[in-house]
Amino acid sequence: MKYQTVIGLEVHAQLLTKSKIFCGCSTKFGQAPNDSTCAVCTGFPGVLPVLNKKVVEFAICAGLATHCEIARSSRLARKNYFYPDLPKGYQISQYELPICTNGYIDITVNGTARRIRLTRIHMEEDAGKNIHDLRSDASLVDLNRAGVPLLEIVSEPDIRSAEEAGNYLKTLRAILQYLEICDGNMEEGSFRCDANVSVRPQGSSALGTKVELKNLNSFKAVEKAIDFEIRRHTETLSEGGTLIQETRLWDPDREETRSMRTKEFAHDYRYFPDPDLLPVVIDEEWIGKIRASLPELPEVRKARFM
Ligand code: ADP
Ligand code: ZN
Ligand code: MG
Repeated sequence: MKYQTVIGLEVHAQLLTKSKIFCGCSTKFGQAPNDSTCAVCTGFPGVLPVLNKKVVEFAICAGLATHCEIARSSRLARKNYFYPDLPKGYQISQYELPICTNGYIDITVNGTARRIRLTRIHMEEDAGKNIHDLRSDASLVDLNRAGVPLLEIVSEPDIRSAEEAGNYLKTLRAILQYLEICDGNMEEGSFRCDANVSVRPQGSSALGTKVELKNLNSFKAVEKAIDFEIRRHTETLSEGGTLIQETRLWDPDREETRSMRTKEFAHDYRYFPDPDLLPVVIDEEWIGKIRASLPELPEVRKARFM
C-alpha cells in the first residue's frame, strides 16, 4: 500500500514590541534573570492585565499579509495548566474567537505553486523558562520571558512533505521579517514550530492518527524529524500496527523522535474568556490604516523584479 503524508504546522512567532503583552516590562533579551518582571507578569493576585495595542496592530499586519479575515471583535481566553514557568496557573491566549482566520500562504516547491491554508492566527503570552542545568540540587525559574507577546499561526493539514514544510516555514518567516514584526531567529526561539504529522492510504480523504513534534530548533531539524516520523508511521502501518496520538520530542543528537506524553485535548485546558480583559474590538478605519502602511511583501517584490 502507498501512503500519503499529511502535515499541519503550528508556529509561535515572538513579536518585536518594546514591552510585554499585558504589562510595561521590557522584552529586551539577555537581562539578568527575573529583572524584567513585575506584579502582573509574575502573577500576583489582584493585579490586572492591560493589552498592548502594538500587539494587536502586529497581529492585524500578519493577518492582512496572509489573506486572513480580521475579526472585528475577538476575545482573550485563559488556558489553564500547571507548570512552574507559568506563575498565574493559566496562559492568556485566544480560543474560540481568534483575531485572524481563514488565510493562506502561497509557496513554490520544485517549480510547482502550492497554496497552504491558514486556520487561524491568534495572540498569546509566552511562559517563563525553567533552567535545570545550572545547579545540581534545584531547578531555577526565569520569568523575563513570561508575558512576551507571541502570535500563534496555525496551518490547515495541507502540507504533503518535509520539503514543503521547510518551504512554508521559510516563506512565512520572510513575510514576518518583511513586516518587521518578528526577527525570525529559530535558534534563539523567536520563531518556533511544532509539526503535526500523519500518513493515510493514498486516495483516502480521512485523516490518520497524528503525532505532534516538538523541539524543532532549525529548518533542518523540522525536515529531519518529519521524515523520521513518516518512515515510522509507514513502517508501523505496513506491518499492521497502530499509532497513538501523542507528543514526541526530536533528539538532534540521535536523530530520532521519542514519546514525551500522550496528547492532551482542548477540554483538559478548561478554556474560558478572561474576565479581566475586554473583547478586542477593531474598527475599519484602523484596519485601513494598517493595510495602507504594509510594505511590499516578498512574493510581490520577487514577481516585480522578475
Ligand atoms: P489539536 O486539537 O491536537 O491541537 P488541531 O485540530 O487544533 O489539533 O490541529 C493542530 C494542528 O494539527 C493544525 O496545524 C492542523 O492542521 C494539524 N492537524 C490536525 N489533524 C491532523 C492530522 N491528522 N495530520 C496532520 N496534521 C493534522
Ligand atoms: Zn511585567
Ligand atoms: Mg489545537
